[in-house]
Amino acid sequence: MREVYVKRALVPTRLGAAEYAVNPYAGCGHCCAYCYAPYVTRDPDFCAVRVRRNLPSVLDRELRRARMGRILVGTVTDAYQEAEDRCRVTRLALEVIAKRGFPATILTKSALFVRDADLIARIPGAEVGVTVTSLEGWEEYEGGSDPAERIEALKSLPGGVIRYLFLGPILKGRTERDLREIMDLAADAGISYVLVDRLRLKEGMREKLMATALKDAVDAPLSYYRDVAMRAARMGRERGMRVEALF
Ligand code: SF4
Repeated sequence: MREVYVKRALVPTRLGAAEYAVNPYAGCGHCCAYCYAPYVTRDPDFCAVRVRRNLPSVLDRELRRARMGRILVGTVTDAYQEAEDRCRVTRLALEVIAKRGFPATILTKSALFVRDADLIARIPGAEVGVTVTSLEGWEEYEGGSDPAERIEALKSLPGGVIRYLFLGPILKGRTERDLREIMDLAADAGISYVLVDRLRLKEGMREKLMATALKDAVDAPLSYYRDVAMRAARMGRERGMRVEALF
């Protein structure tokens, strides 16, 4: 696997309720068909993951001087993709974040974060979320652990760590089919809140998706996404979870 060296580790972000983003890898081996990160990063080799080997030491230097703020770990990569099992760059970055006392939010499609449960618990205000789009047939268009296992893995986190679900992108014909079961699993795993998002098409994505198993999900109208989000909100209320739509 290729290694790359970075000059900066901490990137300001306007994504959600966080001030910074940290991405321990360039690209992402999960290579999800609906991923728009290759378009945002303009990375033609996005699916060929590269290890940012010196990121933890650069991050340590930057956090010494940075204004306090929440750090999102994994915004244009999955910090717990397969490479992390061997490379441990995410683990080293989290050790730095814990040492410097910054709050952090992790979002992943992998159950590998279980390995770092004790370390994550040392991060103030730590939040861990798993992304789920559906429970069946997901291997055709996304990477990561089995979605039910992703949710189940949240149970291994110590009580002080907030757990959340990222339900998205909503995929027509798939997400609504599995919605009730996903929300049941989420409630059982002690999830506090659910973020819901629609499929977002960057320029050039539509053509690419039309050649995949997701071709029927490409042209779903906004009313469809609103309907699924409303159903998720109702199920969330019934199960004691806050649900927020991001569109
Ligand atoms: S896990 Fe996230 S960053 Fe990685 S390919 Fe999938 S959507 Fe993109």
